[in-house]
Amino acid sequence: MIKNHPGDELLSSYSAGSLPLGQALCVSTHLEFCSNCCQKLQRFNHIGGELMLQLSPATVSHDLKNTILNKIDEDSDSLERDHQDMSYSGKSKVSNVRSGAGESSVPRCLRQFVKSDYQEMAWRRVAKSIHNIELFRDDENTKVEMLKIKSGGSVSTHSHLGEEYTVILEGSFSDEDGLYQQGDFLVRNSRDEHTPIATLDRDCICLGVSEGPLQFTGFFKRLLNPLVRRGYLQN
Ligand SMILES: [Zn+2]
Repeated sequence: MIKNHPGDELLSSYSAGSLPLGQALCVSTHLEFCSNCCQKLQRFNHIGGELMLQLSPATVSHDLKNTILNKIDEDSDSLERDHQDMSYSGKSKVSNVRSGAGESSVPRCLRQFVKSDYQEMAWRRVAKSIHNIELFRDDENTKVEMLKIKSGGSVSTHSHLGEEYTVILEGSFSDEDGLYQQGDFLVRNSRDEHTPIATLDRDCICLGVSEGPLQFTGFFKRLLNPLVRRGYLQN
């Protein structure tokens, strides 16, 4: 049961296509687990369409008009192909929530990074019980990564210089505020300090997007912060 969802502001920005890539990937991932948010997104899409209809027509140059019409043609072609793919696999286009039976446990929007199984990936050890794989950084140096916390392992108490988005892909973890399970979507900001601990039964795999480096807040860990900021230590 998913208890943590992206807020309306995030979902409406996602609907408008205005979210930075890393955040959009987190929302897409959550949507594959959450039919409630899929329905909400459809409502935002509908509202966006209605608002577009109410706009007054504007005069544009001949070139711009052609560029837009060509783009619409291209998008229609790719939508048509997607629709055919979906028809072949017998899946509905109304919701992109995974059907479960026989399907890979990796969300579709992450399959370009995860070819087969999470455990098969080239994990890099960053601390005693934490491994990561950096997927990419966007223009603003926001880091998009996969994180694996070993069962029962913990991440040192930390806060963030910017916002941190986490979607749980497999397993579960808890922190001072509760227990988080597959599909849960979390946002932490620079005021939140937390100490995530993976549950004992299995490793916890997450998608993580962090806008600024971690700030370790434990007494000794605080000494590490200047090194993290200068890139001598990975966070
Ligand atoms: Zn949701």
